[in-house]
Amino acid sequence: MEDLVRGLEEFKQRYVSKHHALFEELAHGQKPRVLFITCADSRVSPNLLTQTDLGELFVIRNAGNIIPPFGAANGGEGATLEYAISALGIEQVIICGHSHCGAMKGLLKLNKLQEGMPLVYDWLKHAESTRRMVVDNYPEAKGEELVEILVAENVLIQIDNLKTYPVVRSRLQQGKLQIYAWVYHIETGEVLAYDAETHTYLPPQSLLSDSLPTRPQTEHPRYSRTHAPPVACEIPAGRLQQGESSAHPAQQPVPYRFGVPS
Ligand SMILES: [Zn+2]
Repeated sequence: MEDLVRGLEEFKQRYVSKHHALFEELAHGQKPRVLFITCADSRVSPNLLTQTDLGELFVIRNAGNIIPPFGAANGGEGATLEYAISALGIEQVIICGHSHCGAMKGLLKLNKLQEGMPLVYDWLKHAESTRRMVVDNYPEAKGEELVEILVAENVLIQIDNLKTYPVVRSRLQQGKLQIYAWVYHIETGEVLAYDAETHTYLPPQSLLSDSLPTRPQTEHPRYSRTHAPPVACEIPAGRLQQGESSAHPAQQPVPYRFGVPS
């Protein structure tokens, strides 16, 4: 606690005193450009990893960066989301998972949690779709790889949940909302962003260029750890449209589009 109190003093003397104009401006209101949804994990710092300043990110944090579907929970997530979009006019949402996520590991031992941490158990049930989808579609995955897949797929499933909110549906329909899926890697400090065209997590810089990167060639139809970026997540068979072959899901995936109503 002493460290924190010392930090408060240092913040006031070193930071606030050098940024008077910013604090003056922020005192009159906030105009954040991005809603950043991430895990409560102490190793994730939205402003630090995006090198953004005070007032730039509106943040929702909880265990597992989970957004319960509309009507499923009476928590703060829905209200905060609604405020961010309706009142603040935010047009860009990022859901950012991270490597070694304790909440995703918890999904793998839900029954044990029920007795010792009943509130965590109740909360993680909002990510049951993630657990079920990964367990059913990646039966060969184990250990660290399984957690990695849970993290990557959970971000996409939470985006599905986001789309159940009326204000999100409405803004997507108007073309006034873009949603991005990110995964932060604690060991390297690297963030990879989900690319809907290639169904892969890529360095986000590559998504800013005009030419989209080509799909990586891999023998595995779904998820691979073999490429330099440690996460490469492709749409599993479960996301194929009815009637399509599930034998080669990588060749006939359902386009997963952000910013466009599905
Ligand atoms: Zn986490």
